[in-house]
Amino acid sequence: TRVITQRRRPRGMPVPEDFAEAELPLAAPAAGQAVVENLWLSVDPYMRECMDAEWELGAPLEGRSIGRVVESRSAELPVGALVFHREGWRTHAVVAAAEVRVLPRYEGVATQSFLSLLGGTGLTAYVALTRIARLRAGETVYVSAAAGGVGTAAGRLARLLGADRVVGSAGSPAKVRLLTEELGYDEAFDHRAGPPLPEQLARVAPDGIDVYVDNVGGAHLEAAIGAMREDGRIAWCGAIAQYNAGSAPAAPRNLFDLVEKSIRLEGFLVSRHRDAQAELEEFLVPHLRSGRVADRLHVTEGFERTVEAFLGMLRGENTGKAVVRLGHD
Ligand code: NDP
Repeated sequence: TRVITQRRRPRGMPVPEDFAEAELPLAAPAAGQAVVENLWLSVDPYMRECMDAEWELGAPLEGRSIGRVVESRSAELPVGALVFHREGWRTHAVVAAAEVRVLPRYEGVATQSFLSLLGGTGLTAYVALTRIARLRAGETVYVSAAAGGVGTAAGRLARLLGADRVVGSAGSPAKVRLLTEELGYDEAFDHRAGPPLPEQLARVAPDGIDVYVDNVGGAHLEAAIGAMREDGRIAWCGAIAQYNAGSAPAAPRNLFDLVEKSIRLEGFLVSRHRDAQAELEEFLVPHLRSGRVADRLHVTEGFERTVEAFLGMLRGENTGKAVVRLGHD
């Protein structure tokens, strides 16, 4: 199997030389195991944090992926089954039935959606809106990193859950156009250009915001707190602005606004909310099937371009969920 390993710990933005590719022999599957050929790999922001300490240098990396069973010693994993598992960044893996999910085949729904709207990405957005922020019909929602994986999902879901106004920020004029023209956002702004964030937010949400889905942290969080209405809720998903920074951000400086406006700020990890998966599928599959919601993926072709896909996502080159395609199902 071809695998990608990490060679050294990055300082700031990682570079291709921080990684290496290697060929490893694949162990024969034991009883209860199967060999999986990976078809799709997910590249995610949390992996940048894994690079600082969690990932062992020189060892194959982990990541969410979808593969096809090509050899099996498990009745639960028949040859040909498509499975979701966590041994990404490699072309083949040996997995046990208990470690994987055999994916259901929903007519009209692409397999790769299980790494996007129907995967951890969609689940993060769903949990943020329903369980953390408890969005109510008629409210105004603001999403940062709105053109990314979680962001595109949050925009779609907010609308389906009854939000009255959905606004977002993203890092280029092309993304801003896409948000309003294709991804269902009412208004959007470019956070890398133009006036300061509070001014831009005041323009797109003149009456304030009720719910903020925060993917960025730092100055974005400070601007959103300033723009929140009374009884607003902030679902804090991530802080991509600080993953490469090497030090804690100075903002938000206005935390006392939470008291004055009775705002609730709550961080969460989607791994603690796996029980919402069935609910998400029940809710979204009919919309995916009818075409009311289209999943948006940013596909990089070829295993050898996995590192490029990961670094491109950190730089903001993706619109929609960043994935790598290794083969066809
Ligand atoms: P995205 O697809 O959103 O990709 C990351 C995006 O972040 C880029 O496209 C870029 O878009 C934006 N970005 C990069 N650097 C900056 C910066 N300095 N300031 C502002 N924006 C920046 O990734 P995901 O959808 O996978 O993840 C989004 C967020 O959700 C991350 O913070 C991630 O950690 C978090 N997350 C949290 C989970 C949880 O359990 N809590 C689970 C999954 C994700 P642009 O061009 O618009 O700047």
